[in-house]
Amino acid sequence: MLLRHTPLKIQDRKALSVNPAKTCQPIGAMYAALGIHGCLPHSHGSQGCCAYHRSTLTRHYKEPIMSGTSSFTEGASVFGGQANLLQAINNIFTIYEPDLIAVHTTCLSETIGDDVQQIARKARDDGKIPDGKHVIHASTPSYVGSHVTGFANMTKAMANYFAESTGKKKNQINLIPGYVEPSDMEEIRRLAELMNLSTVMFPDTSGVLNGPQTGRYKMFPPGGVTIPELISAGDSMATIALGEYASGDAARTLDTKCKVPCKILDLPIGLQATDRYIDALRKQAGTDVPTQINFERGQLLDIITDMQAWFYGKKVALAGDPDQMIALSEFLVAIDMWPVYVVTGTPGKIFEKRIKEVTRNSPYPVKVKAGGDLFLLHQWIKNESVDLLIANTYGKYMARDSDIPFIRYGFPILDRIGHSYFPTVGYRGGMRLLEKILDAILDRKDRDSPEESFELVM
Ligand code: SF4
Repeated sequence: MLLRHTPLKIQDRKALSVNPAKTCQPIGAMYAALGIHGCLPHSHGSQGCCAYHRSTLTRHYKEPIMSGTSSFTEGASVFGGQANLLQAINNIFTIYEPDLIAVHTTCLSETIGDDVQQIARKARDDGKIPDGKHVIHASTPSYVGSHVTGFANMTKAMANYFAESTGKKKNQINLIPGYVEPSDMEEIRRLAELMNLSTVMFPDTSGVLNGPQTGRYKMFPPGGVTIPELISAGDSMATIALGEYASGDAARTLDTKCKVPCKILDLPIGLQATDRYIDALRKQAGTDVPTQINFERGQLLDIITDMQAWFYGKKVALAGDPDQMIALSEFLVAIDMWPVYVVTGTPGKIFEKRIKEVTRNSPYPVKVKAGGDLFLLHQWIKNESVDLLIANTYGKYMARDSDIPFIRYGFPILDRIGHSYFPTVGYRGGMRLLEKILDAILDRKDRDSPEESFELVM
């Protein structure tokens, strides 16, 4: 095992990242774009970049991810990619007939300085974009930020390009769900609908990347927010955005551009964060919380009570995306577990502040790093181990090396199937998370118990 050699001695590193806790910006942009109905994402760069973005998404969602590429070779790398993109737009609308193309840039096209907006205007002037069809774009240089930044940039582009204020408000709210699984998006909308709220959710990959097997391939599955819905987002009563990192910019854009007031909340992971989401919905709907939601909350509380003895005092190491890590840490504290090491690959100062806030009553010192990597997390673990590790698939090497129970959570999960079909947000999602955590802890206890204390009933 390569990680056996991770040294205990921690050195300050600025110019080197080892096993980054993130992927590249365009992956997030591509995922967001798939949440618009009839959209074909397009990677403005080399074929290699596009293959990486598509394969990472395909491996995580276990669905074929379609995307165009500007196919840069030496010529485009030197002279710019305008000609390639113009031809790509023409080909894509002629052959695949999407409603829109969502172009994201790559390290290469950003470094060259291609002006995608100007190229899209030229494509329109040259008649390469059929009437009623659209090309939008987001700038996603991967030498800054992470896949979360790319997701945020593409989501903001949706608000920027489409939302229009007619001056006449519609009885609906906007939901910006954050970089979560399609099943989470479904759950976020279900809770709003239980409150009798009419919603425009964007992006919305539910039904696109977790659809049923029908025996027939559809390039543009039925799910996703539609363009008329996106246009109407400018007339909504309010926006509820979940996760500052993934959704904050889009919500503020709608506020500035169309005067739609926004509330930016944590992702509704766990009891308190879901309570805050439900409360925001309740205020917006001007109604009481329905019995169904109270019932689910009660079930989550019951499970917490039943499991609490096994959670108490356990130390946890976490790596993942910032919005998830903040809400998950708060949830762990609520069930008497202690996040002691928390790493995200996405840079940003608020992260460290928020983690310190939610773990302020911890009996242990908490190490937290934004823009960190898994190498550092592994060093922390090797110096003082934990009872549980929660991270994406890459965490399994650390878990194996340090022999710690491990839960796969976040993006990407490349070696397990099913995660995109079951939510981890809302009260129901909280129950699922707790089941996973307890299974991991008790499986380890069973494995390590000597024969005389290998119990049938826990
Ligand atoms: S070159 Fe940049 S955009 Fe392309 S795959 Fe690598 S990090 Fe991503």
